[in-house]
Amino acid sequence: MIIASSKHELKQRINDIKNTGTIAFVPTMGALHLGHLSLIEKASKYADNVIVSIFVNPKQFNDYKDYALYPKTLDADLEKIAKTKARLVYTPQEEDLYPQGFSTQISVKGLTDILCGKSRPGHFDGVALVVTKLFMQVMPDYAIFGEKDFQQLQVIKKLVHDLDINVNIIPGETIREQDGLALSSRNVRLNEKQRSIASSIFKLMTNIKDQYNKGDHDIHNLSSMGKDFLINQGFDSVDYIEILSESNLSTPTDKDDNLRIFVAATLGSCRLIDNLSLT
Ligand code: AMP
Repeated sequence: MIIASSKHELKQRINDIKNTGTIAFVPTMGALHLGHLSLIEKASKYADNVIVSIFVNPKQFNDYKDYALYPKTLDADLEKIAKTKARLVYTPQEEDLYPQGFSTQISVKGLTDILCGKSRPGHFDGVALVVTKLFMQVMPDYAIFGEKDFQQLQVIKKLVHDLDINVNIIPGETIREQDGLALSSRNVRLNEKQRSIASSIFKLMTNIKDQYNKGDHDIHNLSSMGKDFLINQGFDSVDYIEILSESNLSTPTDKDDNLRIFVAATLGSCRLIDNLSLT
């Protein structure tokens, strides 16, 4: 496994790799768990070479405390990746992506005004920017993004479509703990009590899915009952519970058949997000 820790090192290697075949790319912020590893495994099915990046992107954190608290476990991450089929790990420094005087912004309008975009202003601009830069540097044929961050996945699909970026975006399914809690690098910040409360998000989503499929289509009522449920379970606050059309994240019409429930709620210093298809 090759480690490239600057854009110059990456550049020296990338043409050789490209000459051996296609590239599937898995961008991450490190603190790797089985969710990330499942994306790497999926990537290996699409292309001859897998490249993983680890970079905690300061531009996508609207809250400095969240950035400062973000777990950084590079050595353990590299050990985990070494056991996969990944060919190269790219661990750029901040100046490799944002050299002095950097002043370009990228905004994907519309899709980013809702859900997490509302409560985390600038977050998706930071994501769009870092993903575009990484795509320009790695030049992959495929890139794998988790459905765990479904809004992010849709934003990136729109970004590559709008900018004619020649990368196929492949979704990866959400990997969960046994009790349903979606794996997340931030989960290490939950104490024991919070950890047991956290799985109520999955319970709620599966309940709403059942009710919806039994014919209860009163989306507003399902959402407000869901908020009460999470607060009663011990969540400190609920940012949103929304049922939206999967393709464009808009309020569903009678014709929409692919709906998805989206939840964001806070436990202590940890903001948890999750989503589930209703079909
Ligand atoms: P992050 O390191 O949190 O930026 O995530 C890197 C990639 O892993 C993103 O595409 C995420 O959507 C994906 N991811 C995060 N958690 C999970 C999970 N539990 N299952 C599958 N993919 C995930």
